[in-house]
Order: sequence, then C-alpha cells, then structure tokens
Amino acid sequence: MTGFDEAHIWHPYTSITDPLPAYPVAAAKGVRIQLEDGRELIDGMSSWWCAIHGYNHPVLNGAARSQLEKMAHVMFGGLTHEPAVQLAERLIKITPASLRYIFFSDSGSVSVEIALKMAIQYWHNLGKPAKQRMLTVRGGYHGDTFGAMSVCDPLTGMHSLFRGVVQEQLFAPRPETPFGEGLRDGDTDQLRALLERYHDEIAAIILEPIVQGAGGMWFYSADYLRAVASLCSEYDVLLILDEIATGFGRTGKLFAAEYAGVEADILCLGKALTGGYLSLAATLCNDRVRDGISAQGGVLMHGPTFMGNPLACSIASANIDLLLESDWQGRVSDIETQLQAELGNYRDRTGVSDVRVLGAIGVVELDSDIDVAKAQKCFVEAGVWIRPFGNLVYLMPPYVIGEEDLSNLTAAVELALGPD
Ligand code: PMP
Repeated sequence: MTGFDEAHIWHPYTSITDPLPAYPVAAAKGVRIQLEDGRELIDGMSSWWCAIHGYNHPVLNGAARSQLEKMAHVMFGGLTHEPAVQLAERLIKITPASLRYIFFSDSGSVSVEIALKMAIQYWHNLGKPAKQRMLTVRGGYHGDTFGAMSVCDPLTGMHSLFRGVVQEQLFAPRPETPFGEGLRDGDTDQLRALLERYHDEIAAIILEPIVQGAGGMWFYSADYLRAVASLCSEYDVLLILDEIATGFGRTGKLFAAEYAGVEADILCLGKALTGGYLSLAATLCNDRVRDGISAQGGVLMHGPTFMGNPLACSIASANIDLLLESDWQGRVSDIETQLQAELGNYRDRTGVSDVRVLGAIGVVELDSDIDVAKAQKCFVEAGVWIRPFGNLVYLMPPYVIGEEDLSNLTAAVELALGPD
C-alpha cells in the first residue's frame, strides 16, 4: 500500500518524487488513530481542526446511516431537502442575528471564493464596479484556490510562484497586539492608511478573527478586530470573517468573533462543521449583502455540484446538536488550563521563542524550523499524532480528550524541541 501511495498519490505540500512519509491508517476511534501495523496514536490534531468529537462517533455514524438510507445526494439546483433546511436553521440560529442567508459549498476554500464573489457582486450591483480588491493582513490563511490564495500571506502563500496569476490584493502588517491586550498604539495605522488611499477600490476586508491559523498560529487582540470593524464602517467596505478554523468552540467561544462582539457582513464556516466526517462549508451573509446582490434582479453566480449534500448536512446538524448539548465550554476551558500549565513548562527552554494557548489550541514556537519527517517519526514512536509546520509545534486535540491523553501529547511535544 505505501509503495503504490508513494509512487502515485500526491500528499499535501510535499514532493511527489521525494515525499515526506505518510503513515497508513487502518481505523480511528475516539481520540485514537490506529495504524495498519497495529500501533495506536493519540490524536493531537483533530485532523486539521475538524474532528472535535473524536473519530467514529456513534451519534454521527447514526446520522450518516439514517440519511444514507434515504439519499446520499441530489442536486441543489431546482431541488431542496430537509437536511439542508435543518442545517441552515441551526447555523442561522447560532451565528449573529444579522446573518440570515446561507450558501452551502463543499470546502472551506470554496466558501471563501463565494465570500469574495459576494463582495464583488455586491459593489458591482450598487454601481461601484471599481470596488473589487480585497484588503487583508499578513500572516493570514484562507485556502488554496486562487481567490483564497490571493488573500493568504504573500510569503507563506507563495505568491511569487504564481505572480501574474494570483490577483494582487492589499496587505497591512500582521496584527501585533497579542490576544488579551488592549490595542497597541499604531497597530491599525497601516490598515487605515491603505483604506484612506484605496477605499474606492476595496470591496471588503477579509480576516480570520482572533486566531490566524495556518499562516502562523498567532492570537491577536479583540480590540484589533473591533477597530477593523469600525474602520469598515468608516470607509464603507464589507467585512468578511473566515471562521473556518475557529468556528464551533475551538477558541473557547462558539465563534471567535464573539470575543470582540463583532458581526461580519459575510461569514465563512467549514472544517468542524461536520465534526470531521465529510467536506462541507457555508458562507453566510446579512440583509445588506443579500439586498445588494439581488438589486435589479442580480443572482449569485455560483453552484457547486455537491452543494448542500444531504449526507454532509445531516451529519453537520447532528454534530452541532452534539456540541451544543455537551459541556463544550467546560471541556475547552479544561483543555486550555492543562495546555497552559503543561506547555508553559517549555517557555524557558533553549530554542523556544514563545508558548501561547487559547481555548483548545496550544502552540510552541521555536527559533528555527522543525525537521518535520524526523519529528513525525519521533512522535509516532511515542504513540502520538502531532504534525508540526515551519517553526511551530501545536496541539488542537478533539474536545473529548481525557486528561491523561492530553498529558501524553504535551509531554511528547518535547521531542521536537531538541536538547535543552
Ligand atoms: N480558511 C481557513 C482559516 C483555514 O484554516 C482553511 C483550511 N486550513 C481554509 C480556509 C480552507 O479550507 P479547506 O481546506 O476546507 O479548503
């Protein structure tokens, strides 16, 4: 199996001729990933933020089975169904009251494309077609399709490789005020300057609220987000919040923007939406955006084949119910406390430049890049699944993880740190 995989199958962000190793998995249950060779790994990644309730969950399995007996899929053009309607009702209920309209798509990146499209169509329809650029901050990540890539950090998003193909957007510096602090003087100055100069060309500001994920695992001040929201009003640009990674409790709030009390015009959701079962995403918007796009008979020009997939929608509704019925806040807060205490021990280690924790996210930042293949081998041998990137080792366990398993994860992080 590994031989065929290595010869023919691309894995993310690695060479196909000289790939990083990929470990064959036979099954997964709870917080355990079982390898083909019988070894069991404690999951520290939630499969890239998704599997919040752990794997192979009886309730989510049940939702999948019962929907499968009815239909796996039907097209969404000209047809609709209970699973999509029920999920839409839930999402509209749990997100800010102003977000009342929803577009389902099949992945986070596509939901970002739709958000960008919504913003551009909005201004076009209001007779301001020049407003079609996006403003964002450095250190962001919004996906790997071309529109989404254009608003990723230019360096980590490798804009130079795609120069001339990826649209050139406007970038302010990364927010420097850390989470938990009042806005530092000058932190939004360059953002304001870009708005002052280009607001006639800017359709929207797009940001990951509070937590910049794959662009560097950075947690920034709620004041910064509040300041951005008020700059959006001042300069008449839309605000797109990408809660694909932060949504569904990961940061300690159901949605990270709640830390700032900010409401987006357009909101992207994905990842944990189906508890890690199937790819599904949603883009929500408010009356302003809906009315703008719909003026003079306008329609939103998008329609993915698997839009509103019934199987994914049913699992997503079951996933949200499971989350809301659980003491997720207590769980995330316990994980946070434990991560603070246990990862905090590494703060003074040689080679460690920062340790930061927010909700069920723990990050150890090193002075230099980690050898991923080597670290991964050590982790697997230690019975844990942790995948570092760049100079970051981080943990994002399923919320159902027990104290002992989490301690095993935090202890294993030391393996990537090198000698003290
Ligand atoms: N936005 C954010 C904040 C993300 O973290 C990701 C995925 N890492 C995406 C968008 C893209 O989602 P997907 O991989 O499902 O296309």
